[in-house]
Amino acid sequence: MTDAAEGIYLDYAATTPADPEVAHGIADLLTRQGIFGNPHSTSHRFGQAAHQAVEAARREVAQLIRADDDEIIWTSGATEAINLALKGVMLSPNARGGHLLVSALEHKAVLDTADWLSRHGVEAERLQPGDGGLITPALVRSHLRRDTALVSIMHVNNEVGTITDAAEIASVVHAHGALLHVDAVQSVARLPVDVSLMGADLLSLSGHKIYGPKGVGALYVRRAIRHLVEAQTHGGGQEGGLRSGTTPTHQVTGLGIAARLVRERLHADAARISSMDERLLRWIKQIDGVTLNGDQSARVQGIVSVAFRDVEAESLMLALGDIAVSAGSACTTALVEPSHVLLALGLSESDALSSVRFSPGRHTTAREIDAVGRRLIEAVTALRSIAA
Ligand SMILES: *Cc1c(COP(=O)(O)O)cnc(C)c1O
Repeated sequence: MTDAAEGIYLDYAATTPADPEVAHGIADLLTRQGIFGNPHSTSHRFGQAAHQAVEAARREVAQLIRADDDEIIWTSGATEAINLALKGVMLSPNARGGHLLVSALEHKAVLDTADWLSRHGVEAERLQPGDGGLITPALVRSHLRRDTALVSIMHVNNEVGTITDAAEIASVVHAHGALLHVDAVQSVARLPVDVSLMGADLLSLSGHKIYGPKGVGALYVRRAIRHLVEAQTHGGGQEGGLRSGTTPTHQVTGLGIAARLVRERLHADAARISSMDERLLRWIKQIDGVTLNGDQSARVQGIVSVAFRDVEAESLMLALGDIAVSAGSACTTALVEPSHVLLALGLSESDALSSVRFSPGRHTTAREIDAVGRRLIEAVTALRSIAA
């Protein structure tokens, strides 16, 4: 064992540890004594038990977002769900047109898929946010075209935590006859999500961002638009033909348990994590030359992005030692590049490279926040005195 558990973990937006109930639920299934059968081999009781477990998990995930069970498609994570949503709609022979509109603030899973599609006959357009750094309904309306088939936005931004008004955007998109995909990876454990109220036609979520296991996620596909989505993985015809491959019973069961725990704890978690944010911000505000990135009036709890003037985020992270935070996006390579999201929000390159994301979660304690606050003040002061 390494001593990773000794550090302070403030990077829940990058990934969460699985809740112990999730971990035990998964482990119990794997062996001969567990529920190991092929969920698609329903001619015997081993397969039937697995099938029941898979469907029970599907119900939990459906309930989390207030969908119907048969609108949930298992995937290997949100990246695959997003690929299925974007490629599935844009490459379908039933596509309404060849125009795809994605917000410039999206995760790479959306942006890179859109880029790939643009090399395969689709006209993918990136929508830059307006002055306040938000993707507004009016902005979306002004970029919709008669051949827009799909619009993709994120509900909560993973780098700065801003909340997008998905419901208003959905009405604009629908009034135009296009479909809306929502990346809800960062929102489902932080805000109540109801796909009908939101008006999403497609919605992606991920196990490992909501205290479930890695390697599993789901795509919600509204029943009425299912015929507009073309499968991208072919084989045994599982998931109603939309995503072939043997369903990993243990993974989806873990996601199901995580979804139930989120439903049970959503409000308690949100209140606790908000108070952790506030506690951290009280420390941060003792430091001169700091700016909070992103619209703070529309920010969700648990994602706090801060630019420390004249301090390189990489050096700050080194100075913070075993405190795990993230500089810009955690999902890019080892290259130190300013985050595309912070640049799209109008930050200068140097402010973007001075930005650190603090992301407390379900297991963060006030003591940990205080330790981080003290270390942060010391580290920023020391780094600035070297630079001066
Ligand atoms: C993590 C993340 C993804 C990708 O999810 P995976 O399940 O890791 O593929 C997509 N979108 C956002 C906003 C994320 O934070």
